[in-house]
Amino acid sequence: MDFTTTICAIATAPGMGAIATIRVSGPDAFKITGRLFYKSKKPFNFSEAPPYSLHYGSLIHQNQLIDDVVVAVFKGPRSYTGTDTVEITCHGSVFIQQQIMEALLASGAVLAEPGEFSMRAFYNGKMDLSQAEAVADLIASENAASHQMALQQMRGRFSQRLSELREQLINFAALIELELDFGEEDVEFADRTQLLNLIALITKEIKQLIQSFAVGNVLKNGLPVAIVGPPNAGKSTLLNALLQEDRAIVSDIAGTTRDAIEDEITLQGVRFRFIDTAGIRATTDVVEAIGIQKTHEKIEKAGLVILLFDLSKEHIPSEFAALIQQHPQKQFLLVGNKSDAGMVQPDWAYPEVPFVAISALNQTGLEELTTALVAKSGVGNWGQADIIVSNVRHKNALEAALAALVQADQGLRSGLSGDLVAFHLRDALRDLGTITGQIEVDRDILGTIFGKFCIGK
Ligand code: GDP
Repeated sequence: MDFTTTICAIATAPGMGAIATIRVSGPDAFKITGRLFYKSKKPFNFSEAPPYSLHYGSLIHQNQLIDDVVVAVFKGPRSYTGTDTVEITCHGSVFIQQQIMEALLASGAVLAEPGEFSMRAFYNGKMDLSQAEAVADLIASENAASHQMALQQMRGRFSQRLSELREQLINFAALIELELDFGEEDVEFADRTQLLNLIALITKEIKQLIQSFAVGNVLKNGLPVAIVGPPNAGKSTLLNALLQEDRAIVSDIAGTTRDAIEDEITLQGVRFRFIDTAGIRATTDVVEAIGIQKTHEKIEKAGLVILLFDLSKEHIPSEFAALIQQHPQKQFLLVGNKSDAGMVQPDWAYPEVPFVAISALNQTGLEELTTALVAKSGVGNWGQADIIVSNVRHKNALEAALAALVQADQGLRSGLSGDLVAFHLRDALRDLGTITGQIEVDRDILGTIFGKFCIGK
């Protein structure tokens, strides 16, 4: 990687407030900023400034005063990127920010790509890949749970655990490979029983990490919820009640909720993304039929499905049981609406699908519904101290490592030759290594990861 250039970017979005920060990083950061910054009317020598020092002065370009600013000096390698860095804090005007950027570019800096500061930090060994990814998650985090999760990952707990697991496997892989050097001599340095035990332990832990993704994904991206039920069951009314805003169209006419409406709500720290759907009953109405097809598609996309029916009039629609059977991977909640208009005791044969009675109109039972929704999200099963995987790239790598370990385990049990067992172990090591970037990751994958960052980070 060629880091001979010095890059600059506005690190806080323009128009965000009274002050803004512009970041300059690279081998010439001090020289370039030094051409523009004057302290007590004298040109300032950044190389002589102590590390982590702040300086108040003026930014002057082509004899024009741009702004009075504060500059922070970070000397490499003890900076975010690992190289010399200056952070210029100026007044928040977009015009000022543009002027400073233009002056920096004219003095020899190059505009930073999105995520380029973090990419340099990664290449300079300031953080590993999963930590860099956590920086992006941290910036994007919208609630306490996703913030906490990103923070933990950024601080390297996940990375540390992964290197410990790799370390143990490396030892065994090395011993097996040593045996190979002795060729004919039929020696065994690596105790097979111990190796099997180790693989069992590591496999168990990797499985747990993979399982945690279900929760990690919910915390990061929210849980998609489909509300499904016959026309007039009160789907729109329920959605409105939950969102407490009239975003869905409520109507007396059966089957009018044809347009899928997506909206979000955070309940007890968990984000739910509601997908409103048309009725699921068979109908001759062509438009409604599209809605029914959509219902199945929505259930496919949902993580949790609310089966809603009119508690005052009907028994549980027979289609509900079929839906549960057709989508065994999904979580369901049975919700009886219109409890204010009278209740028929539901006869329900699915104990794993909890039942909640509500009145969407009068907004009663919504607290119980909220509790049931949060319980079904699975978030409560994980503690703050648990390592939770929230990145799909990490999950895929863990799955690949698991598959390789299963192969190694089977190989050991069936007396596979040492070189083939070592081969599977190396595979698992490589897969685990791609998560932190200990093993070289494809350039285009890196491009995708850092391309998702905002400019200035
Ligand atoms: P959807 O077709 O399932 O979306 O049903 P809507 O939300 O459009 O509601 C259909 C009708 O039932 C409307 O007249 C609502 O006012 C009424 N409704 C919805 N929820 C309740 C409730 O909890 N109690 C009563 N009595 N009526 C309700």
